[in-house]
Amino acid sequence: MRRQATPLSTGGTVNDGDPRLRRFFDFLARSGHKATRQRALIVRAFFDAGRHVSAEELYHQIYGQAPGIGLVTVYRTLKLLRDAGLATERRFGESYARFDPSPADRPHNHLICTRCGKIQEFRDRGLPHLQQKVAHGYGFAVNECKLELYGLCRDCARPSRARGHRAGGRRARVDARSRFETPRRAPPLLTEETLEKRARPAGHAKK
Ligand SMILES: [Zn+2]
Ligand SMILES: [Zn+2]
Repeated sequence: MRRQATPLSTGGTVNDGDPRLRRFFDFLARSGHKATRQRALIVRAFFDAGRHVSAEELYHQIYGQAPGIGLVTVYRTLKLLRDAGLATERRFGESYARFDPSPADRPHNHLICTRCGKIQEFRDRGLPHLQQKVAHGYGFAVNECKLELYGLCRDCARPSRARGHRAGGRRARVDARSRFETPRRAPPLLTEETLEKRARPAGHAKK
């Protein structure tokens, strides 16, 4: 049976009453950060996208709406979202972090296509049992478990002839990208080390 990897976190328009926005602003107030319009815009764009974006991808996405927002601000805001428990920072074999709109308390696993960069989420009822069995066999106490499967997604694994003539095949790949992740871009505008350095609050500067 062909299984559909269910996207657990789905995108869509985020309205003002969205509880995630309220939780984020509560967190900002509690932690002494300012609730700026830029931060609100970044957070909405992140939840609208509903996928595993890097700071740079989100920056490119919102650049058209708000050219004044810099990459470092996007990165810093994503880190704040993570600190607020509203996003999970993940690494999928890349040199930079991606931010998952599924909170850390919603465990799930990922299928990562190494050709088009698509990342799909899945859960399987049999996995917890298998994990328990393995852990028990080794006398191991598990406190976190994540499963990442790397390979080719259904679109990329399909033989090129089955994808139809060239134009059709190209269209199919573009669709897959727009629904999920954008392809891996190399090299990034700024390395994570530089981003990290610039995102660090300086001395008594306002947060
Ligand atoms: Zn995920
Ligand atoms: Zn693919």
